[in-house]
Amino acid sequence: MRSSDSEFHVHTRLAQGLGRLAQPYLEVAPPIHVSTTYERAGDGSYPGGRIYSRADNPTYDTVEALLATLEGARSALLFASGQAAAAAVFQSLAPGDDVLIPRNMYWGLRKWVVEFAASWGLRVALYDNASADDLAAKMRATRPRLLWIETPANPTWDITDIAAATTLARGTGSLVAVDSTAATPLITRPLELGAHIVMHSATKYLNGHTDVVAGVLACAEDDAVWQRIRYVRGSGGAILGPFEAWLLLRGLRTLHLRVAAACANAQAIAERFADDRRLSHVLYPGLPRHPGHAIARRQMAGGFGGMMSLRLRDGEDAAKRFTARLRVFKRATSLGSVESLAEHRASVEGPGTTCPPDLVRLSIGVEHADDLVADIEQALA
Ligand code: PLP
Repeated sequence: MRSSDSEFHVHTRLAQGLGRLAQPYLEVAPPIHVSTTYERAGDGSYPGGRIYSRADNPTYDTVEALLATLEGARSALLFASGQAAAAAVFQSLAPGDDVLIPRNMYWGLRKWVVEFAASWGLRVALYDNASADDLAAKMRATRPRLLWIETPANPTWDITDIAAATTLARGTGSLVAVDSTAATPLITRPLELGAHIVMHSATKYLNGHTDVVAGVLACAEDDAVWQRIRYVRGSGGAILGPFEAWLLLRGLRTLHLRVAAACANAQAIAERFADDRRLSHVLYPGLPRHPGHAIARRQMAGGFGGMMSLRLRDGEDAAKRFTARLRVFKRATSLGSVESLAEHRASVEGPGTTCPPDLVRLSIGVEHADDLVADIEQALA
């Protein structure tokens, strides 16, 4: 598929992992390249085009090309984790740069940005991602070098209007990077909405089998910012092992099937419990009463994702009891995999969390919806 990667439907590109057959055996499952180094010719050149595997690895090539076509990107880069991918974006900035990040976002990254910023010299401001007015006001006030968006945002699944945010960013000369982990490229394509960089924790939906920690960045332009990010990866060394890159490609081959099943299950569960009196909120962007639903309908296609949170009317203890009673959902952190996971989020995030104490985060997997509904029902009973 090489010369015409984007000619085929996205499902075809995924199912075949771009369909590139490796020479000389024309293997349908791709090989793994484990060599860390490559021989030079007598004249000092590198006839294989590779020097050393900290810069890149041939096992990455197809995975990065596939991810770039999914995002409509010029280029994509794999990283050792989602956190390493996000960190590379912030590390590509200079001390003194302003960054604007959401109040509700993956807590591990928010903590890292706030703590890292102090020593690196980035000036961090936070916006309320449930309020478009607050975002506009903070953009005008800080004119940040980088606006960071996460949508839907962990763990309340607030929706940010990416197109509106990139319009604001054009006025302030800001770069826009979007953590699109929960949406996946099948549901939202931030670069088409004007973002410069899209990031994923590939640990989640992209791999989808709870057996790889990985991250990815993809860019709208192969510009100086992207070259600096590439330099951060190659010199900082936060690279993915070849076996993990290979597993990621294997996981990607069923992304469309897994995401469709998770979205359908999540929508069914959200609708089933939306009016349950034991819950004060069912936070899911696919419900018309979700504050971000109208925007989500515009910028999410084919479903509203597999992530939701339930808030228990009887408070924190009820939320913990509910989580303890689940039998089909596994009590574990992370998201976006084939099996459903549940966690009492505030106790995972620990002191300083902004997560409501009565909130249980659910990552909806691809099991039968009836089993998931029955499990929630018996745990609420
Ligand atoms: N972004 C989001 C939305 C996440 O949920 C996570 C992890 O949970 C990350 C980034 C960090 O990814 P990783 O765990 O692959 O470093």
